[in-house]
Amino acid sequence: MRISDLVRPNIAKLLPYSTARDEYKGELGVFLDANENPFPNGYNRYPDPRQLALKAKISQLKGISVNRIFVGNGSDEAIDLCFRIFCEPGKDNAIAICPSYGMYRVSADINDVEMREVQLNDDFSLPLERLLQVADERSKLMFICSPNNPTGNCFCREDIMKIVSEFCGMVVVDEAYIDFADSASLLALDEEMPENLIVLQTMSKAYGMAGLRMGLAFGSEEVMGLFANVKYPYNINSAGMNEAFKLLERDVKKEIDIIKSERGRVAEELAKRENVLRVYPSDANFLLVKVDDADATYQRLIEKKVIVRNRTKVKGCEGCLRITIGTPEENDILLDSI
Ligand code: PMP
Repeated sequence: MRISDLVRPNIAKLLPYSTARDEYKGELGVFLDANENPFPNGYNRYPDPRQLALKAKISQLKGISVNRIFVGNGSDEAIDLCFRIFCEPGKDNAIAICPSYGMYRVSADINDVEMREVQLNDDFSLPLERLLQVADERSKLMFICSPNNPTGNCFCREDIMKIVSEFCGMVVVDEAYIDFADSASLLALDEEMPENLIVLQTMSKAYGMAGLRMGLAFGSEEVMGLFANVKYPYNINSAGMNEAFKLLERDVKKEIDIIKSERGRVAEELAKRENVLRVYPSDANFLLVKVDDADATYQRLIEKKVIVRNRTKVKGCEGCLRITIGTPEENDILLDSI
């Protein structure tokens, strides 16, 4: 399988927009090339369309070279780009596990791409065979979210890698919650990363930058080159980029440790409650909790101004609420209110 055979023909032959800043790479000069207002106010210049300074920092942090990194307006942008790059609307299809993150389907619908959802096994493990069976010659993408939202579990690396080696399309492994897991990211594969693997991460969760909208994708230079060609030229603005750069100086390990330890405490406390039927093990910063009456519990919490996510209507999550781990004080309020 060659990546070029998976790419939509219009994207394969795309002549991407070349910005003024793509053509001249120096930092100093008299910039009369981009029709900007010349009077400085902090933001009068266009941002770096290639986000090189930010990517250098991410490269250091993740141990992945700059040419194999994409930064998007949240990982939702990366998910959308996967469809736009690989799927012919009305012809190709994509596969995703279910229950999982809702944007895979929404993005498929927006791009007029058939989504084939495969229910997880009852123990929330990967239905390996069924995932491979539903694939046909028009299956271009397979989404595996690990740790999975909303079930909270990681899938075993051998299972994921089996899919990567047997599926004749791009496998997108969404690691939005990986910093809360004990298992290692697939980025540890580094140069060994197969060509048809894209790993998504985000700065919205462990790195505490949901408001800045910084999603990350990692893959081969060829695939990340396609992402760079198809994205909006200035998809990341200067203010966001500067803030992200600064916030990446912070050591988030302490916060992650607190969240993980609170996850254990909240799970233990919830399990003692009479109305709680089950607390699923979690590798993420949330707990999937089965209660005796999800709608009523959800309403009761809302009345106490505690907002959780009611997942009872999601197939496989009947009776479940998804509860994000907050600060210790917030978690106490949850435990008092539930
Ligand atoms: N992937 C998963 C699994 C998520 O749960 C979320 C957000 N809830 C995202 C991606 C999107 O993250 P971002 O904020 O980077 O768009």
